[in-house]
Amino acid sequence: MTIPACVLKFGREKSLLARHPWVFSGALQREPDVERGETVDVVTADGHFVARGAYNPDSQIRVRIYTFEPETIDEAFFERRLREALAWRRGLLPAETNAFRVCFAEGDELPGVIVDHYDGFVALQLQTAGADARRDDIVEAVRRVLAPKGIYERSDSGFRREEGLDTRTGLLFGDVPPATLAVKESGVTHLVDIANGQKTGMFLDQRDSRAMARRLANGKTVLNVFSYTGGFSLAALAGGATRAVNLDTSGPALAIAREAYRANGHAVNDADFIEDDAFARLRAMDERFDMVILDPPAFCKSQSHVKTALRGYKDVIMQGLRRTKPGGLLLAFSCSGHVDATLFQKVIFGAALDVGRQAQILARLGHSFDHPINIYHPEGEYLSGYVIRAGREEAHAR
Ligand code: SAH
Repeated sequence: MTIPACVLKFGREKSLLARHPWVFSGALQREPDVERGETVDVVTADGHFVARGAYNPDSQIRVRIYTFEPETIDEAFFERRLREALAWRRGLLPAETNAFRVCFAEGDELPGVIVDHYDGFVALQLQTAGADARRDDIVEAVRRVLAPKGIYERSDSGFRREEGLDTRTGLLFGDVPPATLAVKESGVTHLVDIANGQKTGMFLDQRDSRAMARRLANGKTVLNVFSYTGGFSLAALAGGATRAVNLDTSGPALAIAREAYRANGHAVNDADFIEDDAFARLRAMDERFDMVILDPPAFCKSQSHVKTALRGYKDVIMQGLRRTKPGGLLLAFSCSGHVDATLFQKVIFGAALDVGRQAQILARLGHSFDHPINIYHPEGEYLSGYVIRAGREEAHAR
């Protein structure tokens, strides 16, 4: 079978030879007349094979590379990649943990394919035209590799719009997952709503940071801002926190957080579940905590919104510092890919200076290892965080 070819402009194979998995429209001199999502070869101006990937005429990223070998892209290909991704993760997962990401798109050399495993159920997210066109192959590969009780599709992320795709959600195979599925993370019970929760139900990318919160929490009071279903609070309580207060705008997420407190044997006090806007509420509060966690949603999805996002981060960090006792800890995160760790550190610097607090970086945080960053695709990195010791207040505080 001949595979349609995208022909590169002269000399434009450089980034591909450095194994970068995206081909932009500007690098191509000729494109085939094929459907969105179809498999194409990328060839040099003089006709030599460079890579094979999925074509999308509706995206600036015209080809997303599956492989740099002339191998067949079929169900067996997806199965091989998934098997490899699963095998190394299995050996590295913390004990008593049954919720993790099996496949992280380009991070696992499967562009657009997100596979999350929740105690036997799979949440599948297909983010690109290529992945979407291969749904049947991918579902079959997931069945073979993971033998799940059910596969539920959550292809409703913003990425799809840029690819010209509509939202798709629903059961693809087997049983519908329970409305709140109980999973374990280092022995702690978390409750996951696969069908309706944010992302695919749980922020698996924050596992290592939750473990860090647990390590630091003993004897402390905790304010968990942007708490979602209480993940950081449950970790902190398992680590000996005396109290963990959750603040989020989402009523359904807080309802799950309450249920999860019960499932872990923690007392449920109404005062510890605050449904409100974080920016307003932090300003209105006067209580201070030993540890404050700030894990807001992405404030910017594109380069053009970085400035506004930085203002948002600075504001929320200033408020978070004010709610942290002198000598307390602040765990601050950014999940905006366009705000890297260096830039985010500058934002924390500006916030500390403006509220007049001594501040020390105790640790840098990032993706859990099941969200690997392909060294040839640094664009895959989006999450950064800092453990800050918020020291004494300066007399000149503004
Ligand atoms: N830390 C969580 C994930 C946080 S996701 C975990 O580890 O599971 C970001 C959360 O911020 C979402 O639950 C969303 O509902 C909430 N959110 C978004 N805007 C908000 C706002 N203005 N005030 C409070 N919460 C907000």
